[in-house]
Amino acid sequence: MTFGRYPAGGLAFPHRDLLGIAQLERHEILYLLDEAEPWVDLNRQPSKHSDTLAGLTIINAFFENSTRTLLSFEIAGKRLGADVVNMHAAQSSVKKGETLIDTAITLNAMRADAIVIRHGSSGAVDLIASKVDCPVLNAGDGSHEHPTQALLDALALRHALRERGEAAEDFTGLVITICGDILHSRVARSNILCLQALGASVRLCAPPALMPAGVETIGAEPFHDFDAALEGADVVMMLRLQNERMQGQFIPSAREYHHLYGLTLERLKRAAPDALVMHPGPMNRGVEIDSEVADMLDRSIITRQVEMGVAIRMSCLDILTRRTRGVEGWT
Ligand code: ASP
Repeated sequence: MTFGRYPAGGLAFPHRDLLGIAQLERHEILYLLDEAEPWVDLNRQPSKHSDTLAGLTIINAFFENSTRTLLSFEIAGKRLGADVVNMHAAQSSVKKGETLIDTAITLNAMRADAIVIRHGSSGAVDLIASKVDCPVLNAGDGSHEHPTQALLDALALRHALRERGEAAEDFTGLVITICGDILHSRVARSNILCLQALGASVRLCAPPALMPAGVETIGAEPFHDFDAALEGADVVMMLRLQNERMQGQFIPSAREYHHLYGLTLERLKRAAPDALVMHPGPMNRGVEIDSEVADMLDRSIITRQVEMGVAIRMSCLDILTRRTRGVEGWT
């Protein structure tokens, strides 16, 4: 299924880097999703190897902890046949006081063909991108953006809808409630932009202290009452409290938070009868989501999100290295 239309060749994705969803047009998002489909199929085969990126070197430079994103970028690069190297900041010269710019210059001098970066500071990935010669992919920068997470979420949702026979051109008509620490969440930011670009109506729900000011101006509907935010929603996306980004006390206690904003089976009944449940992970079971909900076989697509993460990262690495590889129409 082609989800939308896009220009031919390199014009389908004219960017060197993938820094955020904010820089992308709707048709570019659709292109990244459509190009992930063959990789979804490959990843379901016993033999998952492709030589698409053979001979290329990809550096995953992670200055902040990660399980899913680092692993799936590593798997994605390896399945595409690239040489993949992981740099963990804890073991790097960053701990010896090297500046981010010097680290970027060092990575560049090693002639990486793509650099994937996660960093705790918003804007750090853009800074590195401005200092290197190869494509840079943002794997999450502070509370700014996490574009591949939003893309994999869209792909997982599209697959789940398709399996229910609800395949549509995009997400027009869908009501999606995102609940949690909206203020500090890069996943929320990237998802709001991506889901809205694909036509969905986005409701945001958070305690007052964790809701950014002015979300109405970007077309999202803010709620502080979770029950009201859930009413009739087609999709419920739960987010973790970003404790590592909080300075000071934002919630009275985890127990209180769960009482008001935790997704329980009972509360889910307020959403549409077949509403889908999403979570980017890592989950704090019993805080923002109950196990009974997270593990619902017919409603929770949390493990599918993880599956789609590999395919979407393969799509991004493939597309962003086409110019380097001299692919016809992309030079
Ligand atoms: N894994 C996601 C991120 O890196 C979500 C989270 O950590 O809560 O932003």
